[in-house]
Amino acid sequence: MSNKTEKKEWIVAVDGPAGTGKSSVTKRLADELGLQHIDTGALYRGIAIRCADAGITVDFSSDEIPKISEIARGTELAFKRMPKLNPKNRLFVSGVDVTSLIRTPEISLLASKVSAIPEVRAALFDLQQSLGRSEPSILEGRDIGTVIFPDAQVKFFLTADLDERAKRRLSELEAQGADAPSFEELREQIRMRDDGDSSRAIAPLKRAADAIEIDTTHLTLDQVVARMAALIRKKMGTL
Ligand code: C5P
Repeated sequence: MSNKTEKKEWIVAVDGPAGTGKSSVTKRLADELGLQHIDTGALYRGIAIRCADAGITVDFSSDEIPKISEIARGTELAFKRMPKLNPKNRLFVSGVDVTSLIRTPEISLLASKVSAIPEVRAALFDLQQSLGRSEPSILEGRDIGTVIFPDAQVKFFLTADLDERAKRRLSELEAQGADAPSFEELREQIRMRDDGDSSRAIAPLKRAADAIEIDTTHLTLDQVVARMAALIRKKMGTL
């Protein structure tokens, strides 16, 4: 991309609920447009892994919040690109590659629960901003366009019907050879996560007023990528 280096901070924010295709499209867009890809959900999942190791479960009580906050503050999180591995972008938690452990349904739900704790969000705020500022980036998450980078140059909000999202997650898990729950169970887990993410008091999942909304239910991955890439290129060309 010719213009991206002219401006130090260049951010594409992609928010939306689980299973809308955020990860697949942002990875593809990062490759096509030469942007750094940052999966902010992986950071919450990294903290959830540490919490699980410490015996914290999804039904944790409010007495456990100080312990969870301490874990969040004390966890060292880093992304490393390892081109020979799949996925290439690896998450390291306190020096250990946990990439293959963070996508289970249990960690998904625990990540959603701990992410509602203000101290957990605060612990990840600076890291997300400094990662995004280090080079032109595309960030995917829930509050990128509203809280982390409210001045992002381009903002998207992806949506899709719940059934379609559960279907996509199920095929993803099956493709990874993971122990997949039934379609109904997965649908319920996603619905619970959406409810929690949208109703929490701090940084709830919501579309930024200036975000472009794309309903991906009836679109292929290629179609979504093409539409978003065209909009980003147009914006990059005009800045
Ligand atoms: O995107 P992903 O499904 O991996 O995110 C896992 C969980 O992390 C989400 O359900 C959400 O609760 C939390 N999250 C968040 N803010 C972000 C990214 C993820 O609260 N920016």
